[in-house]
Amino acid sequence: MTAPARAPMSGKAIAHSQFDRAANLINLESYLRRILLAPFREVQVEVPVRMDDGHIEVFTGYRIQHNGARGPCKGGIRYHPEADHDEVLGLATIMTWKTALMDIPFGGAKGGVQVDPKLLSQLELERLTRRFTQRIAIVLGPYRDIPAPDVNTNAQVMAWILDEYSNRQGYTPAVVTGKPLSLGGSLGREEATGRGVMYVMAEYARDFGIPLKGSRVVIQGFGNVGGHLARLLDTEAGAKVIAVSDVNGGIVNESGLDIPGLLAHAAQKQPVSEWKDGRAITNDELWEIPCDWLVPCALGGVITRERNARSIDCKVVVEGANEPTTPTADSILEERGIPVIPDFLANAGGVTVSYYEWAQNLQQYRWTHEQVNKELKATITKAYTTVRDLAKQKAATFRTAAYAIALQRVAEAERLRGN
Ligand code: NAD
Repeated sequence: MTAPARAPMSGKAIAHSQFDRAANLINLESYLRRILLAPFREVQVEVPVRMDDGHIEVFTGYRIQHNGARGPCKGGIRYHPEADHDEVLGLATIMTWKTALMDIPFGGAKGGVQVDPKLLSQLELERLTRRFTQRIAIVLGPYRDIPAPDVNTNAQVMAWILDEYSNRQGYTPAVVTGKPLSLGGSLGREEATGRGVMYVMAEYARDFGIPLKGSRVVIQGFGNVGGHLARLLDTEAGAKVIAVSDVNGGIVNESGLDIPGLLAHAAQKQPVSEWKDGRAITNDELWEIPCDWLVPCALGGVITRERNARSIDCKVVVEGANEPTTPTADSILEERGIPVIPDFLANAGGVTVSYYEWAQNLQQYRWTHEQVNKELKATITKAYTTVRDLAKQKAATFRTAAYAIALQRVAEAERLRGN
């Protein structure tokens, strides 16, 4: 008998599902559970945009600040047709745990506009970004809330936000991170999330005896996170990236893909499945490929009970994307003995280097690329080690241990501030 289909779990539900487990682990007071489960502030705006043909379209946008006890709120802005209140709230919540786990002085926020940016011209995209910024500017600021790129937004979008905000407040580079270098962006920011994933994998590899060199990696998504990760695993870690995918499908080559060639191919906006040197596969087939490391780096909710949690054939799942694993799938993987390195540890490199970018902007001083990478490695490795040790001590999963550490830090800040 096949299992009855269930409605997919919302981003908020995924983000909250592990909360009680971790809160119980640290005996968190009930009033703090209530504070930390709810967002501090939610802003929803309607964003009218004049399209190139003269008519006006209205898009819905969100900026949700989940918690700011440890510092200004921090989190990306995504442009996606499915960006809604629930998704943005879930992602904002994860940002609180991510910044706390990395022990950087930020809280958590996220923004989103419900739009398919592929249907917009560059000028329409700029007008949308400027109007959205005007509508949420009141809750932004270098000591209040600092956006960054996320799915379908990039350094150019951040430059428009910086310009729009600075037009009113005076030059304020620290109001966004992930900016172009020439506007105060940080060296190493663009690759930081992929680089952080690689550093975490390297630590895990050493601790659990799955040497990265020569190991087989499958990556879903070949954008910022997946693309840089593939490149770094290939060039710096000597791993064999055997399959990658994008929204249109995937490509597999058991001997290892030619990653520099594939990146150049993808940079020409060509689907990875049309790369000459491998076998094209569907997005569903990607999950079945036997490998050592399976790294989802696309969207949330892609590893589910119904789709693939029972058929995935890897030694470790590393969450490059945010919320790729539903809680039910997470339990199935746990039952099957497949460890999961959770998103807010694995993909925290981006926000960590965003912190360095913000600090550089406030100092008006640029760090070298080497300095950025060295600090990133130290910060993410320290977080990894803390999680690994607590997981061992409490016989908990990495996800529960990471949650417990993050919750403890945020709760402590709340208590010290008198809440
Ligand atoms: P991106 O837009 O640069 O790339 C996304 C990739 O996923 C693209 O290759 C796209 O084709 C592919 N994709 C989309 N839908 C897919 C599908 N159904 N099947 C297979 N592939 C699909 O986005 P990104 O910045 O790389 O972000 C990816 C994930 O990582 C998101 O969950 C994001 O929240 C998370 N994340 C990103 C950063 C960052 O710094 N960019 C930091 C932390 C977390």
